[in-house]
Parts: sequence; C-alpha cells; structure tokens
Amino acid sequence: MNTKYIFVTGGVASSLGKGIIAASLAKLLQARGLRVTIQKFDPYLNIDPGTLNPYEHGECYVTEDGAETDLDLGHYERFLGVYTSQANNVTTGRIYNTVITKEREGAYLGKTVQIVPHITDEIKRRMLLLGKTGDYDVIITEVGGTVGDIESLPFVEAMRQLQWELPEEDFLSIHLTLVPYLRSAKELKTKPTQHSVQELQSIGVHPDIIVCRTEKRLTPEIRSKIARFCNVKPGHVIQSVDAWSIYQVPLNMEAEKLDEMVVNKLGIHGLPKADLTRLKEFLFRLRHPKTEVDIALVGKYAELQDAYKSIQESFVHAGAANECKVHVHTVHAEHIHDDNAEDLLGRMDGILVAPGFGERGLEGKISAVRYAREHGIPFFGICLGMQMAVVEFARNVLGYAEAASTEVNPRTPYPVIDLMEEQKSLTMKGGTMRLGAYPCHLVPGSLAHDIYGRDDISERHRHRYEFNNRFLAQMEKAGLKVSGRNPDTDLVEIVELPSHPFFIAVQFHPELKSTPERPQPIFVRFVRAAMERRNGR
Ligand code: GLN
Repeated sequence: MNTKYIFVTGGVASSLGKGIIAASLAKLLQARGLRVTIQKFDPYLNIDPGTLNPYEHGECYVTEDGAETDLDLGHYERFLGVYTSQANNVTTGRIYNTVITKEREGAYLGKTVQIVPHITDEIKRRMLLLGKTGDYDVIITEVGGTVGDIESLPFVEAMRQLQWELPEEDFLSIHLTLVPYLRSAKELKTKPTQHSVQELQSIGVHPDIIVCRTEKRLTPEIRSKIARFCNVKPGHVIQSVDAWSIYQVPLNMEAEKLDEMVVNKLGIHGLPKADLTRLKEFLFRLRHPKTEVDIALVGKYAELQDAYKSIQESFVHAGAANECKVHVHTVHAEHIHDDNAEDLLGRMDGILVAPGFGERGLEGKISAVRYAREHGIPFFGICLGMQMAVVEFARNVLGYAEAASTEVNPRTPYPVIDLMEEQKSLTMKGGTMRLGAYPCHLVPGSLAHDIYGRDDISERHRHRYEFNNRFLAQMEKAGLKVSGRNPDTDLVEIVELPSHPFFIAVQFHPELKSTPERPQPIFVRFVRAAMERRNGR
C-alpha cells in the first residue's frame, strides 16, 4: 500500500480543535491497525515556537529529539502513544530558512526565487518527508491557521498541488468549520461554513469531508444543506459536538463514521473495526471518580489554560488512574507572599510549582514552596519549580538569605542554581537550551526510585540553568536529598525531602510523556499523596 496523506484545514474561526480532530482520526486509524503519524505546519516566521511567549501560543512542547514544537504535538503523542520528532512540526520560518540558505549556497543560480514554486516545493517536500521513511501507512497533516489568512496560503497552495500530484486514492482533505447556534433565532447557521469552503475551493482545494464543530447536534436537513452548498457527498458532512473530554472525541468521530469514510476514500480495505478498549476503560474511570482533590498549580501564566497544557493533561491521566477528580487551581505566582500563602494555598491538598522563565512571579513561587515544605503539603516542583525549591531550601533552611538562581541574580553570593557550563558561551537564544530526552539514574531507597520502580529512566528537558553541585554537600547535610542524576554529567535531576510526607522536585518535564493509557508515575503518586492528605484532614 502507498503511504496515504490526509490534510486537515480549518475555517471560520481559530481554536476549533483541529489538533484534536486530527489526533482523533489518527487514533481511530491506529486502532484499526494502521501505522499513523501526524504533523503540523504552522504559518508563522519563528523557526520554532521555542522563542514564543506562552501567552502568544500556549505551551511549547518538547519532543524526545529535543525539538521545541507546537502544543498540538502533545495531543498527538497523548492520543497515539507514539513519539513525534523535529520533522512533525514545520513552520513558515523553517521553510523560508531552508530556501534562503539554499539560495545563498547557489542552489538556484540564475533563477528568480519565488513563493511558487520554490517555497511551495519546499513545503511539499516537507509534507511528504515522513511518508518517505516507510514507517507509516498514513500521514495526517494539520495545516495551522484559518483558511483565508494570508499566512497559510502557501500551505494550502502546496496542498492543492499535491491533490493532483498524488494518486487520487492517496490524498484526502478534511475541512473543520464552525456551525454556530444563534440563541435568539434558535437556529444553527451554515453560512460561515459555506463561505469558508468557498474560500478553500477558490484556491482549488476540494474538501472530501467537512467536520462541523457545533454546540447543538446537526439535523439531517442541516447536513444535506451544507453538503449541497459545499459540493461534498451528502454523507460526508459530520458533526463534532462539544465533548465532556477531549478523549471522548475519537469515540464521537467513530460514531460519525469518520474513519469509515476515510478508509473507503483512500481505498484501504479489509481493516478490522477500531479496538478502543483501553481508551474506553480510561474514559470510564475519568467519568466515575470516587474521590476528589484540590491541587494548586502555581505559575505566572495563570490566565491562560494552554500555557500549562501538558501538566493539566497529566492530572487528567493521573486522576483517572486514581479514580479521583483532580481540581487544578491555577494560582498566580505574583500574588503569593509568605503572609498570604495560608489564604491562597491553605485548603489545597497538593501544590505544584510550574516551569517558567524570568523573574516575574519567582518570589511567589518560593513562598509557595516554603508553605508546602513547612506545612507538610504534598509538593511537586517541575523545572523552574525545582530550581525554586532549591533556592527556598538554601534561603530558609541553610540561612543563605541571598541565595538565588543566576538567571535573575547573576551576582548572588549563593548561586545555588547556575548556568550550565555548556551554556556560558552561547549567544543565540533559539533552540540552544538543554533540550529533549536525557537519561537519569535513580538512587535506590529514594521516593523517586519507589515511584518509578526502576534504576534508570529517561525524561525530557528544556532549561539552561541547573543545580549547582558546589552546594550539594551542605544541602544534603541539611536534609535535601538528591535522588536522580544524569549518569554522564552528574547534573542533579531530582531532589526530595525525606522528612516531608511528599516532596519531590525534578529538573526535567515529566508532564511531556504522560498519556491516558500510560499516566506519568510522579503525577500518579502526587495525586495519591494529595488524596491521603485530604483523607487525613
Ligand atoms: N528558566 C529556567 C532555566 O532556563 C527553567 C526553565 C523551565 O522551567 N523550563 O533553566
């Protein structure tokens, strides 16, 4: 069988959940025995989202191979349980960078370098790249942005060309739109969908399937009206009604026969029905919690859900594993001080201090750590959260009042968190952090070892600063134990407080590898510790 290419575009509005629809379709095809991957093409000029503020674009998701990518790749990995890589996220910036570098090298000598064909050729090359590895039967490409935007036009043009260049049964196009419900008229409105499809067709791309995001169910009349005006087969207009959980969407898409339509159009025959047993088991546990806990997520991007997407999702997975509803309360780090920590955090069953960069909210994070440490509240620090746990310990236990990370105070006499050696000579900011998967050796007898149940683990990283081993002996003597280290460099990866009911902080990002079917073990145990604390109260 040839590799099949499915393209997902979006219209009418952004944030309709193209990534979730793409991931849901991928899940269904995978559950029918196909090898599937998803890639995302993003229409901005940054080479990757690593240099973007989470307020602009949500969390930056890091892959095993150290690519800083769009948060939709997190959804892909969580839905499919397979790793993505650098090749799965391409931006306009990366495309132009390649073409302009080639131009300087003389690859197009004598030619005028243009958007069509040079940029579009490079887009097409990247769109087909993962298919050439032979590792996949189906490549789903999510085209970022909204059809009609200037930015995404070259992507759609590349799709248009591929529509004719690929064999007909190897190409399929899905368009996701919004069918809004007008409360005053008590009516679902199809006009925005018609316009969006017209826009797509005016560029020359013909959708095979239209998925309509809607808060009310579509009637058969609405479906046939959309089919008629948008020039698709009557059965090929399907609904995606707002779901109670994103993990329910694959089942909703199966009920709409999305996978059936797709395999038929692509000429793939003889596949079994999708086996979604494990997803259904997960959803059952998620839907029927026996207990609940309140967890504070202390960070500076509190206003934006997407800024801590993978952490939020990890709590969904860990909650289901414990049959516990986890209420995650984002607490603005800037609002926390030693004297109001009780008010803001006192009724929490667990406190997580989030990753981050820069000075804003740091003192609040330190106060949150202190409150958790002194009151025996289950504590979990991630990356910057771990660094602040170390600073807090140095200040309030060792008595080094000026202890700091050199990220914010380069002249501190107690640089307990300091720039990594290999970072000192770097001047470029993009893609130069310690990124991707690194091994970590766990100390037998530690909490970390007990949680993972093995000696060696691998987790993903995204940071420049690290625990300064110069202070290690004093810290350990005062009760802060290092329980995980990089076996090659001796970098400290995990610290814990054995005297505390549950206090663990990690330099890596465990949230990036949690999936519904394989919840991340630290999150699972943290939720359990929170449940125990709540029971004990
Ligand atoms: N700003 C810190 C560093 O660069 C922590 C990064 C993070 O939390 N991801 O080391």
